[in-house]
Amino acid sequence: MIVGLDIDGVVADFLSPFLRFVEKKIDNGPIAIESITDLSFKEHPHLTEKAVWGCMEEVSYDPAFWRDLRSLISPKEWQELEQLSSQGKLVFLTHRYERDTYSIHQVTGDWLKLHGISKPIVHFTQEPKARLVQDLGVGLFVDDRHENCQDVAENTQARVFMPHRLYNQSFTHPRVKRIRNFNELFNYVR
Ligand SMILES: [Mg+2]
Repeated sequence: MIVGLDIDGVVADFLSPFLRFVEKKIDNGPIAIESITDLSFKEHPHLTEKAVWGCMEEVSYDPAFWRDLRSLISPKEWQELEQLSSQGKLVFLTHRYERDTYSIHQVTGDWLKLHGISKPIVHFTQEPKARLVQDLGVGLFVDDRHENCQDVAENTQARVFMPHRLYNQSFTHPRVKRIRNFNELFNYVR
């Protein structure tokens, strides 16, 4: 079975450095991570969708931002992922933006290699992920954004796991399983 993993919010800590970036830009004091209850930022008390979108666009042009992201999983978990990867059973599926000024493919590949994935396979798309999941024959899909989980759950045969996060906590779906750690994923694959 092929496992399809999202990167940001699943194996890479995108949100904390992004909030630090937004703080600097908007200059309206610290933004508590607990205040992010929805990644669309629609309900946020003092961040507008437009401001957040501007920041998102800005970091998309900054290779250093992506290079410096911290890992959300342990070295042991990376080893297990490498095992799957070396057997041709792991792909990464991301909505990271591709820009002309640098190669996000290179930066992302290097970051995954740094964590022990010797030959990472990463697919970039701006389309809903269900299409890629279908085309690649992914049997287990993992994403922290509930919109992506719902899309894949409703449009493919893949099993869908969603790592528990504050910003996805209110979402439930009969075909999306909320997981608390990666062992649940490895146990399922075994
Ligand atoms: Mg994500």
